[in-house]
Amino acid sequence: MRTALDWKRYYSSPEFLDNYIYAGNDLGVTCTDSGASFKLWSPSADRVTLNLYQDGGKGKPFFCVPMTKEEKGVWHWSTAERLHGVYYDFLLEIEGKEVRSADPWAKACGLNGQRSMAVDLSRTDPEGWADDRAPERTREQIIYEVHVKEFSWDPAGGFPEAYRGKYKAFTCTDTTLNGDGIHPTGLRYMKDLGITHVQIMPAYDYGSVNEAGEDTEFNWGYDPVNYNVPEGSYSTDPARGEVRIREMKEMIQSLHASGFRVIMDVVYNHTYTLDSWFQRTAPWYFYRVFEDGRISNGSACGNDVASEREMCAKYILESVLYWTEEYHIDGFRFDLMGLLDVDLMNRIRKALDDRYGRGEKILFGEPWAAAETAMEGNAVPALKKNIALLDEKIGMFCDDTRDAVKGSALKIRRPGFINGARGMEADILRGVRAWCLDSGEYGEDHAAVKAPSQIITYVSSHDNQTLWDKLTETLPQADDAEKMRLNRMAAALYMTCQGTLFFLSGEEFARTKNGMEDSFNAPIGLNRLDWTQAWENHGLVEYYRGLIGLRSRLPGLCDKSARGPERISAMNRSEGLVSFILDNRSADGSERWDCVKIIYNSSRAARSVSAGGGTWEILCTGEDSSLWQGHHPAEKGLMIAPQSVLILGRTKKT
Ligand code: CA
Repeated sequence: MRTALDWKRYYSSPEFLDNYIYAGNDLGVTCTDSGASFKLWSPSADRVTLNLYQDGGKGKPFFCVPMTKEEKGVWHWSTAERLHGVYYDFLLEIEGKEVRSADPWAKACGLNGQRSMAVDLSRTDPEGWADDRAPERTREQIIYEVHVKEFSWDPAGGFPEAYRGKYKAFTCTDTTLNGDGIHPTGLRYMKDLGITHVQIMPAYDYGSVNEAGEDTEFNWGYDPVNYNVPEGSYSTDPARGEVRIREMKEMIQSLHASGFRVIMDVVYNHTYTLDSWFQRTAPWYFYRVFEDGRISNGSACGNDVASEREMCAKYILESVLYWTEEYHIDGFRFDLMGLLDVDLMNRIRKALDDRYGRGEKILFGEPWAAAETAMEGNAVPALKKNIALLDEKIGMFCDDTRDAVKGSALKIRRPGFINGARGMEADILRGVRAWCLDSGEYGEDHAAVKAPSQIITYVSSHDNQTLWDKLTETLPQADDAEKMRLNRMAAALYMTCQGTLFFLSGEEFARTKNGMEDSFNAPIGLNRLDWTQAWENHGLVEYYRGLIGLRSRLPGLCDKSARGPERISAMNRSEGLVSFILDNRSADGSERWDCVKIIYNSSRAARSVSAGGGTWEILCTGEDSSLWQGHHPAEKGLMIAPQSVLILGRTKKT
């Protein structure tokens, strides 16, 4: 029996590299009215049998046929019969042992993803799908992170009972709180808020929720089983393979029609278990192993996908392109991007640019890993320290700004600038410029961010405590009024930093998970968006709305180019106080204020503010972020309130 290392050596041998790297893009099943063609890449198998089933989970095959080994390790069988809706798997013989596997390249599957399904994708398109288009790109991209089930689980959201927790809830365009017809929830709520991109947490088929189980089962879904198939528990009928496909398309279509672009959260860095379809069809090819035989576990989920292996890189690239082509996805958020390699990320960027135009599809990820990984050969991991090697239009979550604003996400009691830490002012100013300055200034970790386009500016995501819970944790004595003030301050602060803006759904209504850090498998009752709370805290929601509206009128902050950070000048800092001037001129001259002054005061005392020459107006204070909608002259003797952000605009001379 070959060991993992034996297999790895074989896959690295010239014999293998010359004979088994398949260049075609037709793996999986091609299924139309005029027939079906099955292709499986398994260079490791000595024999492969294809089994066809009527059902996606139960019963014996009604047809079994040996597949033919063709070149490059590809096994093939085709028929002139119509097989749409027929389920299948493979029986492989590897080293004298029989192993059953579903299809790693499957585009549809049965219940819990255990059998694959032949699908004629044209039959899964909802009405009007051919005309589905993403809305035009906006000056600023503001990403709102949403989980399918969390979004509509709360009965107060006013979604139809049968759609709660499902893709279908996103097709409801007119929901209100308890159906009162007054207070918008769901899509209309998000539209009012002003966000431009909806980021859907994992919605490919994952393994941690039983699709035949109780509806209350919950998981974030960072445990992929079938990368190219939608998750079944979000569909109204997970047992019928085409339903989840159509319903996910309906969700995207509806989001597009409501004015949102859609980002998919992708987890190519590991699989639910090591005993995956990858592993069953090509043992150890798709996984990393250390030289001493230990299984690489940089994901802390039991395995690391070997993105640097050519057939694996090709798989990931084609998967991304498939989601954009077939599902009209507008961008991707890569989970633990630091486990993937720089070459692959740049290759994906280029392929998307070639097809859709430069930067049209947004691409970013987490530039870290949970632990060391056994990346092979000369591959370079897409970690924060290697940001200079990544394309200018590949972004990374900026934990430095996040932690500077409200304290470390991992050390939960540690505060940041707004909640009591001292000495954070310099980092806050770095965050304002999206950490884009001369290389070397910040040390190795920050070597040369090329442009604000490489930075995702945020203070909360699904991971770690919510912003509200972090404030509670770090300020146990603070009353709700103070926490609200600091929440507003956090929002006004990061929303006046350069970079692309991102936040966890509900941050804007003081969402809480009762202090829980990583609620990935906590009850849905804790994780669900609380639509009653969204109304109760509508003052905070309004504050976010004002900030978002103002942001798109500040082209100086939206500037993602390498020159963008040069717009920030007159940077001043003293204890608890930071200020700077923003050159807000835009190429088309459409801006209302040619110059903007922004002040952050985290102290508990009011401070005096001087704006400088010209006519200035107040755009935003710690209480009201919509002053810019009217006209509020900045008088002499202006003060900034304690624990607040003040934004002033200089009226353009005409
Ligand atoms: Ca599943």
